[in-house]
Amino acid sequence: MTTAAGGTAQAGAQPPVLTVFVGLGANLGDRGQALAQAVHAMALLPATRVVQVSSLYVSAPVDAGGPDYLNAVAQLETALAPLALLHALQAVELAAGRERPYRNAPRTLDLDVLLYGDLQMDTPELTVPHPRLTERAFVLRPLAELAPQRVGPAQLAAVADQRIDRQQSAAVWCPGVLVSGAPSL
Ligand code: ATP
Ligand code: CA
Ligand code: CA
Repeated sequence: MTTAAGGTAQAGAQPPVLTVFVGLGANLGDRGQALAQAVHAMALLPATRVVQVSSLYVSAPVDAGGPDYLNAVAQLETALAPLALLHALQAVELAAGRERPYRNAPRTLDLDVLLYGDLQMDTPELTVPHPRLTERAFVLRPLAELAPQRVGPAQLAAVADQRIDRQQSAAVWCPGVLVSGAPSL
């Protein structure tokens, strides 16, 4: 059976394991530590494993002031349902001290569900693919590293005017992620 999210399942079997991409961002506090801790927290989520993470990027805030962001994208495999995953990511944000005083406010940690398998859903609480994914170089550049088949050259060209620099390879900013992420699925 093919599920709505593009995974496979059999009646009465375990929930399907799907490939999910999560966007990470921070522009307050120790940004690098917050992103690395978030990757390790995601690796500890139930029925979830971190498959790979992108390089670390520095980007200028879009539609906002404040300090530069550090950004990355993580590829997960998870059997968590979409809302369960969102709520788990929001708990990780809270643990990192995330506050939402106003829209696009500077933040210690932001975790967005970019892609959840091939699922398309649009509800007040969760929209996937993320509705502003294609407008943002800080999402498209790291996503293209991990999943080049999901980001076209025209999409990258459309955000080429946004300031973003690749700062560190994944091995430098998030060492050991594959090992730490492996056992929890
Ligand atoms: P943006 O969505 O433009 O990146 P943001 O990340 O600053 O903005 P938040 O304050 O973190 O916005 O989230 C606002 C709400 O967005 C959340 O409460 C959540 O319910 C909702 N939301 C909808 N779709 C998604 C998604 N794909 N990933 C994360 N949150 C989402
Ligand atoms: Ca966001
Ligand atoms: Ca968010």
